[in-house]
Amino acid sequence: MKHVVVIGGGAAGLMAAVIAAREGAQVTLLEKMNMVGKKMGITGKGRCNITNNADMSEFIKNTPGNGKFLYGAYERFTNVDLLDLLHEWGLPTKVERGGRVFPESDSALDVRNTFMKVLKKYGATVHLNEPVERILVHDGAVKAVETDKHTYECDAIIIATGGKSYPLTGSTGDGYKFAKQIGHSVTEIRPSLVPIVTEEAWVKEIMGLSLRNVEVSVVSKNKVHAKQFGEMMFTHFGVTGPIILSLSHTVGKLLKKAKAPVQIEINLKPALTAEVLDKRLQIDFELYSKKQLANGMKDLLPQNLIPMVICLAELDPAKPINQITKEERLQLLYVLQHMTLNVKGLRPVEEAIVTSGGLSLKEFNPKTMESKLVSGLYGAGEVLDFDAFTGGYNLQAAFSTGYVAAMHITHPDMFE
Ligand SMILES: Cc1cc2nc3c(=O)[nH]c(=O)nc-3n(C[C@H](O)[C@H](O)[C@H](O)COP(=O)(O)OP(=O)(O)OC[C@H]3O[C@@H](n4cnc5c(N)ncnc54)[C@H](O)[C@@H]3O)c2cc1C
Repeated sequence: MKHVVVIGGGAAGLMAAVIAAREGAQVTLLEKMNMVGKKMGITGKGRCNITNNADMSEFIKNTPGNGKFLYGAYERFTNVDLLDLLHEWGLPTKVERGGRVFPESDSALDVRNTFMKVLKKYGATVHLNEPVERILVHDGAVKAVETDKHTYECDAIIIATGGKSYPLTGSTGDGYKFAKQIGHSVTEIRPSLVPIVTEEAWVKEIMGLSLRNVEVSVVSKNKVHAKQFGEMMFTHFGVTGPIILSLSHTVGKLLKKAKAPVQIEINLKPALTAEVLDKRLQIDFELYSKKQLANGMKDLLPQNLIPMVICLAELDPAKPINQITKEERLQLLYVLQHMTLNVKGLRPVEEAIVTSGGLSLKEFNPKTMESKLVSGLYGAGEVLDFDAFTGGYNLQAAFSTGYVAAMHITHPDMFE
């Protein structure tokens, strides 16, 4: 019987441990926190967006950080395979807008409890509060895993320690350290799916304001590099929310590469063409012709956004609407469709939903997740250098890579 040590009890490690145990291996799961799946418990705002019901090719498209590496894992373990397993294990699921799949109970804790139940059922041993300190290698193959309590001799090791985001959940980048010690390289660690910091200090005045159905573009050197439609929010330092998090990947790349200024451009009324929006402004201006400008836009914008829009259009909020010239109205129109914020940077990796960068994929076999440098060593989940958008794509990547690693350890013949 093979002895497999899984380091880290997040999505990837839990799947790997359950599958390896189900397939007959003796499994020891070492977790440094006082519980497994701490991060899983806060995913999807506590509801856990487990996966997406899109075609697997969409998963690759939604993984801007090295998505192609995942082809092999997705061929073996798809979203349908994942849901079949979860249903078999007694966790019903449902599909929501955008194909996002959640547990029917809306509780991320139910996903974690399901894994705890099957870990027990298949006889995997779990050690909590036991951070791994190093991996021992002999003659190019794994030999053991060391913690401050014990040395675990083993035939295979799966590093599933996650990235460096949300360190309070246990993901503090330890896996990078062990892997480096045994010859692996780690690519640059950067935040992905992270709020954006803006130069404009006025955002603080409208912090908490959430905008729905807006379109946000990332612009640099007058070129639009990415665009998203949906929901965003102002914060004390800049902007956040689903579409901002998704766009942060492009912003991060531009900041690093272009060294040219980057802007976020918000179209507050993307459903309307400039002509239609201008007509709409004219109708409102007629209706409120005797009011001051600041009091004549309440049908069009949230109250606290109005002063910002007027200021960006360089107009006087106290000016009576019946004195607004056509040129001034067009200035307003422009701002409504191109509200521009200058990007100062991204929030740190610790605040990111996922970590971009990690164990270099050149050193792992994409079909098996085994290291090309150390026999019997595997990587799974966010510790590897890939990162996806929101929508359930990151958890599926963690589950699929964990699954494949466990299957390769227990059934290498199936991969020949
Ligand atoms: C707030 C938030 C919400 C998210 N929501 C979603 C979502 O709804 N859908 C989605 O697809 N993705 C979501 N993600 C991303 C997703 O949670 C991660 O990509 C995924 O959890 C990665 O799984 P993992 O197993 O690779 O790593 P992790 O879940 O980070 O697990 C790593 C585990 O390793 C343990 N560990 C670390 N070092 C050691 C050590 N030295 N010894 C032993 N154990 C160690 C950690 O304690 C941890 O338990 C979200 C992320 C965040 C932060």
